[in-house]
Formats: sequence, structure tokens, C-alpha cells
Amino acid sequence: MANQPREKVQNRKSKDWRTTVTVVIDFDDTIAEVFFDKQKRNLIILRPKNGVREALKEFHKLGYKVVIFSCRNNSTIVGNKEVALNAIKEFMARYNLIYDEIDTGVNGKPYGDYYIDDRGIRFENNWNEIRDRILKENPTNER
Ligand SMILES: [Mg+2]
Repeated sequence: MANQPREKVQNRKSKDWRTTVTVVIDFDDTIAEVFFDKQKRNLIILRPKNGVREALKEFHKLGYKVVIFSCRNNSTIVGNKEVALNAIKEFMARYNLIYDEIDTGVNGKPYGDYYIDDRGIRFENNWNEIRDRILKENPTNER
């Protein structure tokens, strides 16, 4: 993946996950800085994170497929899924952020060669380390 010759990637026409490097990216607090208004139960999209526009531009130039994976739903946000989806689309257009598609998870987890998420923990056969970190950060089950 990362070591593939550039020409091969650039010459690809279709953006099929089986043949194209696919980068799956979280939206809230990864692509965009957001602010959660607890009283209004509303998630406000502020601005793009530093460097995201340039990264997306590079990925696009190389022909990678970029999928925004967002699980925004009614329980956390005022409005319905369509409203949340449109807010993402408008934001991406307004700030000239290039992507291929938005996936809301209705068909399950999208395939990715890379997953970029502010809440992610990289798994490297290190379950003990991961368990200890989570338990240390959360001594009880309350968030
Ligand atoms: Mg996030």
C-alpha cells in the first residue's frame, strides 16, 4: 500500500476499495473542530482541523479513495440523519475539502486501509497495554 509506485495509483480510474488505497476518516474532531452545546444538545461544526485540507488534496492527487465515516445520529444531535449529513456536505464544500463519499454506517463498517479517528487506538498485538490504558482513563463506567 504505502510503498506502491505512484504511477500505479494515479492511473487508476475507478475507486473500488479492492483496487484503490482507501482512507476512512472520522468527521467530528478529526476533519472538523466541533463544539458540543450541552444545553441545546447540538453539535456545532467550527472549522477544519489544521492540515486536513492539504492531506485530502494529496490523497486525491494520488487517486486514493477517501471515505468520511460518521455515526452522527438522533441521540446526540438535534435534527435527523439527513440534516447531519447535509451539514457535513456543506462544510466540506465550503472549505474546499476533497472526499469521495460519506458513509453513515448503515451497511456496516466500511473497508479501509487506514482509519483516522480522534478516538482510535492503534492495535499492534498489544491487548494488555490497551486494556491498561482504558482502565486507567476510566476507573468507573461513567463518562
Ligand atoms: Mg470523532
